[in-house]
Amino acid sequence: MIQISNHMPTKELQALDAAHHMHPFTAGNELAEKGVRVITRANGVTLTDSEGNEILDAMAGLWCVNIGYGREELAEVAARQMRELPYYNTFFQTTHVPAIALANRLAELAPGDLNHVFFAGSGSEANDTNMRMVRTYWAQKGKPEKQIIISRKNAYHGSTMGGASLGGMTPMHAQGGLPIPGIHHIDQPNWWAEGGDMSPEEFGLARARALEEAILELGEDKVAAFIAEPVQGAGGVIVPPETYWPEIQRICDKYEILLIADEVICGFGRTGQWFGSQTMGIRPHIMTIAKGLSSGYAPIGGSIVCDEVAEVIGACEFNHGYTYSGHPVAAAVALENLRILDEEKIVETCGAETAPYLKQKWEALADHPLVGEARIVGMMGSIALTPDKASRARFASDPGTIGLICRERCFANNLVMRHVGDRMIISPPLVISKSEIDALIERASRALDECLAQAT
Ligand code: PLP
Repeated sequence: MIQISNHMPTKELQALDAAHHMHPFTAGNELAEKGVRVITRANGVTLTDSEGNEILDAMAGLWCVNIGYGREELAEVAARQMRELPYYNTFFQTTHVPAIALANRLAELAPGDLNHVFFAGSGSEANDTNMRMVRTYWAQKGKPEKQIIISRKNAYHGSTMGGASLGGMTPMHAQGGLPIPGIHHIDQPNWWAEGGDMSPEEFGLARARALEEAILELGEDKVAAFIAEPVQGAGGVIVPPETYWPEIQRICDKYEILLIADEVICGFGRTGQWFGSQTMGIRPHIMTIAKGLSSGYAPIGGSIVCDEVAEVIGACEFNHGYTYSGHPVAAAVALENLRILDEEKIVETCGAETAPYLKQKWEALADHPLVGEARIVGMMGSIALTPDKASRARFASDPGTIGLICRERCFANNLVMRHVGDRMIISPPLVISKSEIDALIERASRALDECLAQAT
């Protein structure tokens, strides 16, 4: 067996990776041409790669490392829990202390009467749980025909068959025969790309009313739930106009549609408050959680469920669960992560100090000749790249090309920013300091200058 370690030359690691490792969301030929980047360690907001480069991670991994890298406490808690009880399940009338403690803590943190937690291993799994849970809820209430779940185009809800179907990503639907039946997608509130001549406020109302139109078209008695991210993340950090969410809430209330807020990205401080639902002023029946729940230190997700839905589901045997639902090590790590977020006032400091500082700097990027709108909520932001701000024009070639160039220039400047088509997005660890924010903005500005020089 070959001994593979951090000490091997990058080229060798790349060759071994290419030989046997299949990567998510990566074209094989890209790997062969450019070689994969090998990350060897990380601390705070900084990644180190196998070439010794120190890279500012403005994406917190995949939007998840909210407390930053390198927290010893989590490693210690994981080791302790592995020694004491490395695994047991929560099926068939059994439980253990980490699952009890984490469920209780989440019930304290979650707003309103979101008091019950069904654990999963990831956000995708949790959304699959939600699909089955809302349909079972209505069946138990004597309305088995209420089955359709309404979602949005360009939403991301995961990669499982259920999650990817709930999501509205066309390239994902093109593979594997998706979406599965019973899901209806309405248009997204992306004013920059789709708002035409409307003001953002008018457009927000129009896009919210698309939900009402869909309910009336499909039949109120057929619709089980509406699912949405408080702020779309993977779709390009699309911040909805202010009129959007109040109208969605009104419509869900009026037609008795369950509202599922997918908080996988927005949860645990990302928007400057504990949950995106609080920032957007909505009252969901179910929240999907993952990512920031453990800051990515252990794989765990779940659904936080309101009293009414939990009571109805609890009245039957819900034939659903995962081997790792409430995994003791992941639950213990998540609990420690929540302790750190709370006791070190990371969410508060982010909401009151660092996020407003980042907002001011980020929005100033809109002055760059390549940048149209610059939007940000808490610690999730996006800029739209455009050849002409006034007309909100798109680049004539594939819009992804300009984004790809910009992403490459970011990497060249030791900055991880992601691109979604012609939008560049950030979601740094919540612990990012003001001086690190300055470095982020400086590197992003340099990358934009280089991108402009290359693209024009
Ligand atoms: N929901 C949202 C909003 C997400 O952004 C993601 C992942 O990015 C998921 C669900 C899926 O989570 P996971 O990758 O943990 O399955």
